[in-house]
Amino acid sequence: MERDKKKSWYEYLYIFSVIYLVLGLFNIIFAWLGLICFAIPLIISIKGGGKTYCNKYCGRGQLLNLLGSKYKLSRNKPMPKLLKSYLFRYGFLTFFMTMFMLMLFNTYLVLIGASNLKEVITLLWTFKVPWHWVNTDFVSPWTAQFAFGFYSIMLTSTILGIITMLLYKPRSWCVYCPMGTMTHVISTFKYNLKDKNV
Ligand code: SF4
Repeated sequence: MERDKKKSWYEYLYIFSVIYLVLGLFNIIFAWLGLICFAIPLIISIKGGGKTYCNKYCGRGQLLNLLGSKYKLSRNKPMPKLLKSYLFRYGFLTFFMTMFMLMLFNTYLVLIGASNLKEVITLLWTFKVPWHWVNTDFVSPWTAQFAFGFYSIMLTSTILGIITMLLYKPRSWCVYCPMGTMTHVISTFKYNLKDKNV
């Protein structure tokens, strides 16, 4: 019988994605760790690594693949053309970044004392879920506000990823994932720049 190919360490990064979401249930401040998933793909692309993060290191992509392919939770249907379109992908990126900036602005308002800390998680940018059970007294209110906002984004994108995994192909989220779109833009820009210099 053919032995299983030994897996590389980075093939287990989906565990990090699960741990991240669970830690946020116990203490929202762990949400700050999610910045790693924002920074690393951009750094890799800027340094010329293209979509290496997506292809190798993204725990979320791996998790969706695992749930959809291995555990067969995905219907495995093609995505509607509209969701794959240029317009939708860049429209979603614009919307996502606008909401991200709004979250940063809310954090700033708490930082300067113009607004109080709101201990809620906002799902799908609409539904407010009270999140009072976590102790945030040991950090400044703005630090906690950022964590609530960032965890809301991470949870929202996970929910969208799971919904599209269930309905379409396992990694359908990757088609319109803002990080994937941004790394694509950076890689294309760097490639064009290199091309012109030749
Ligand atoms: S597109 Fe997004 S979710 Fe998919 S692998 Fe890339 S960063 Fe991860």
